[in-house]
Amino acid sequence: MVDKYTHDLGRKGARWEEVKRLVFATQTHCWRCGRYVDQSLPPNDRMSRTVGHVVALADGGRPLDLDNLRLEHRSCNSKAGRAMQARLRRSESL
Ligand SMILES: [Zn+2]
Repeated sequence: MVDKYTHDLGRKGARWEEVKRLVFATQTHCWRCGRYVDQSLPPNDRMSRTVGHVVALADGGRPLDLDNLRLEHRSCNSKAGRAMQARLRRSESL
């Protein structure tokens, strides 16, 4: 699926691990909901940390540019992902 491919693009490799570490080390709050992110939570927790893109990759956002990366909750990330999928589906049906 094209959307899934775009989403995963840039989310792997040594450079991605590096920028992810930098985001985790320098940011403390989720940029989507503004609340504190507890970085000690296990990865399967809904409120655990993850890194999101300010400009979505599907919109041409740069996947490995620190300026385009923000700390966010896993749940906030998946909510945004679903909104993006819905928006793409709408634009495809036009
Ligand atoms: Zn959040």
